[in-house]
Amino acid sequence: MIKCGECGAEISDSAIACPKCGAKTAFTKRQDAGNMRAMIFIGCMVSIAVIVWFVVDDLQKKARVENAINMMRTYTDKQDVFMKTR
Ligand SMILES: [Zn+2]
Repeated sequence: MIKCGECGAEISDSAIACPKCGAKTAFTKRQDAGNMRAMIFIGCMVSIAVIVWFVVDDLQKKARVENAINMMRTYTDKQDVFMKTR
């Protein structure tokens, strides 16, 4: 049993709120803090995931452009060889 911080009534230490005044107990406050931390953690994870997604997408675009340039280069190189051997 714990004492309510608001009205001083004896309440169960696993109670969510004081049955007399409805004030949140230390147990609920701890849970709220835990939920807050979980929310912040999830928020951080989502931001990191979005950043990683953007970076990977950007890298993939760059890689595609480089591939296209390389393909064009090898094509023109072959053309050069073809022209020279003629
Ligand atoms: Zn109370």
